[in-house]
Amino acid sequence: MPINLDTVNELLGTSYSAENINDYFTAVRTSPKEVVNVKDAVESQVGPLFYDMFFKNYTEKQWGISPEKLPKEIIARIPIRANRDNRYFTDKYQFMPRNGYTKMFSRMLEHPNIFVMLNTDYSKITGEITGNRIFYSGTIDEYYDYILGPLPYRCVSFALEKYDLEYYQKAAVVNYPNDYSFTRITEFKHFYRMERKERTTIMKEYSDSFGEPAYPIPLEKNKLLYKEYEHLNDENITFIGRLGKYRYLSMDQAVREILDLEI
Ligand code: UDP
Repeated sequence: MPINLDTVNELLGTSYSAENINDYFTAVRTSPKEVVNVKDAVESQVGPLFYDMFFKNYTEKQWGISPEKLPKEIIARIPIRANRDNRYFTDKYQFMPRNGYTKMFSRMLEHPNIFVMLNTDYSKITGEITGNRIFYSGTIDEYYDYILGPLPYRCVSFALEKYDLEYYQKAAVVNYPNDYSFTRITEFKHFYRMERKERTTIMKEYSDSFGEPAYPIPLEKNKLLYKEYEHLNDENITFIGRLGKYRYLSMDQAVREILDLEI
């Protein structure tokens, strides 16, 4: 992922170049009257074969909903490339934090004005909160004690496994669209140059409708319910992030929105 020139040539045994790969896509792409759902969005770019191989079952596994019922926006960030670029994004600067995310967040949280309480139910400590502005990144329905009913979320769970191998897989992330119950395996070692040769840790990712909310489900009826919750908002609270806004934000978008907040 994403599908690019190499994906087509490797899978079909062809030798298209950047100059003529669009001939292939033009020949196989469908032309739905209106591109509404994930199936239309993919098939109208790369045709049914690539949709079936890469998107159909992965999307079903990831969301527990047929891709024909999911809006095209959930795959908007995934480009289809007529060249060999295999990155998701084309931003000029794309880096990992130098010493990893754990270190980055630990250092941020060391700030003297930041106080962290773990394993604490927010509703139990509201009386102790003295600030006059609250930024809430949890789920909005929980904040309002589900008075309008629960908003659906897709949840993920992670299983870590260790192996006595230098590497388990060839890339940092390998997706399993059609096999197994997990969606993908991440091998963190690929993100950094690691000295350690004899062991590696991988993480399998499972999607479920129960557990820790991770993804808002962008169906129209859910968006409407979110709007109703938003109307309950009292002035000193700002809901932020994927869960607070009930939007499928990428990390960079979530950060951008915070930087752009008018405080
Ligand atoms: N997707 C897919 N096959 C893949 C990768 C992604 O069908 O191999 C679809 C799927 O519906 C997924 C969406 O594209 O939910 C967005 O993928 P991404 O990897 O960006 O999702 P995230 O990292 O947010 O789980």
